[in-house]
Amino acid sequence: MSRPSIVIIGGGLAGLSTGCYALANGWSTTILEHNIALGGVCTAWRRGPYLIDGCIHWLTGGPFSKIYAELGIIPPLATRPLEHFATVADAEGAWEVRIDNDLTGIAGALRAISPADGAAIDGLFAAIDAVVGVAPPIDKPPEITSLREQLRGLWEDRHELAILFRYRSTITSWLDENITSPALRRVLLALVPGEAPILFLMMVLGYLQRGWLSRPVGGTEAFRDALIERYRALGGEVRLDATADEVLVREGRAEGVRLGDGTIVRGDLVVSTSSAPETVLRLLGGRYGRDALDQRLARWKLFDPIVLASFGVARPLADAPSTLVLDGLKGVEIAGRAVDRLTLRIYNDDPAFAPAGHTVVQVLMPTDYEWWATQGSAYGDARDRVAAAILALLEARFPGIAADVKMTDVATPLTFWRSARSWRGAFEGWMPSADSFSQHVPKTLPGLDGFYMAGQWVEPGGGVPTALMSGRQLVQILCDAAGKPFVAPSLGSSAS
Ligand SMILES: Cc1cc2nc3c(=O)[nH]c(=O)nc-3n(C[C@H](O)[C@H](O)[C@H](O)COP(=O)(O)OP(=O)(O)OC[C@H]3O[C@@H](n4cnc5c(N)ncnc54)[C@H](O)[C@@H]3O)c2cc1C
Repeated sequence: MSRPSIVIIGGGLAGLSTGCYALANGWSTTILEHNIALGGVCTAWRRGPYLIDGCIHWLTGGPFSKIYAELGIIPPLATRPLEHFATVADAEGAWEVRIDNDLTGIAGALRAISPADGAAIDGLFAAIDAVVGVAPPIDKPPEITSLREQLRGLWEDRHELAILFRYRSTITSWLDENITSPALRRVLLALVPGEAPILFLMMVLGYLQRGWLSRPVGGTEAFRDALIERYRALGGEVRLDATADEVLVREGRAEGVRLGDGTIVRGDLVVSTSSAPETVLRLLGGRYGRDALDQRLARWKLFDPIVLASFGVARPLADAPSTLVLDGLKGVEIAGRAVDRLTLRIYNDDPAFAPAGHTVVQVLMPTDYEWWATQGSAYGDARDRVAAAILALLEARFPGIAADVKMTDVATPLTFWRSARSWRGAFEGWMPSADSFSQHVPKTLPGLDGFYMAGQWVEPGGGVPTALMSGRQLVQILCDAAGKPFVAPSLGSSAS
């Protein structure tokens, strides 16, 4: 008997994860990917002898590690726990703070910036352990968790929940209420977005301390390829350069996908991992779930689009911190927007990225989608000007670096749109916020059967672990509906 089939729109992490779990549980799968390569925004690319890493700065492990193991990514891939998270430096050299994997050290460094705020810092750090102690709901999706199980979970976490409640406000409002020092504010805002709940920062620091934040050896490329290999080994099919234009619906049930070239791909189920606006407004013509999407678009912020400028430099930069945030730039305008902060990644911690004696220096800078989308034929020149402006800022920190640049690569919001259909450049979907974090986004749309969604647009805040988790949880929901036990790929059979 042939296996029931799933057509998956999108071959990013969520599409690949959905595919792996579905294959292990008896479905056949076809991924339709718009790009000419798999991986979505979790990708890396080569320019001459340099490997440009377009994604993983920190991989969240801890409770999420089981998903990497189930998918056969880690192991075999090795990881290096982060010892250094970031150095935040005042652009004019007034102060510099190292954030390492030692909470006592971080708290001390923050107190040193502003002794007057010591009590607030101590209170925050004292609560981190309790926050980290609450396990995220990975094992079972809420859709198939009974009321009894939910109540048991709430009872078990009752002490920690009081602390979670106390720290649910945004980082910005917590800072407004508790911190007097402008420099201290700037350090904390340089670490995670100000719209995120303060809990998010506490979780990141707690995970850092426990060694649960790491980088894969070989970077994003190795991580992405391990997942792709797993999907193919399980027997999954892929069509690259295949843009879905419409989800076909008959009598309230999805029955396939029409591609941009008119080809029809039929399936028993259809899963979209495309952006929420593309899925709801374009692929389904606004007929299902439009009101809920409109409300989210009105209330929640999207991730700011970014410029990702990478420079291959003939310098080892061995002593530079691997992540450096230059904060408090003054009078700088790039791509039509005032820039007061640059985040630098210095790839000096893994030989995969550059030949000996060379380093890739990467700058991540928020930018405006509209500005880039209206450059017309001046787009190429605009990109070159932006690269030159960023390099001029790097000169202040690394004098003479411009003369050592051997390779320049600039990805703009339009690059993210063209290669991964990141809607208006929102490469990570919904920005984490107190509201978006606390609200569950359903994986189905009202009135439409046989259709599901996975990926960062149903997991506000995005990220590698949650994109993978959403594929796992979706297949758990499908297994539950089919009345069969759920099997993890590393334990289950191959497709044959
Ligand atoms: C610069 C950068 C740094 C990051 N750093 C980290 C980090 O340090 N740690 C971390 O955990 N996360 C990080 N992330 C976030 C993480 O990479 C993403 O949240 C995750 O990879 C999203 O996976 P996804 O499959 O949900 O979405 P996507 O990767 O967006 O995949 C969606 C796929 O669907 C395809 N698609 C869309 N529409 C169609 C269509 N109509 N037809 C066919 N195909 C379609 C797209 O081309 C794409 O391949 C980072 C992301 C970026 C860009």
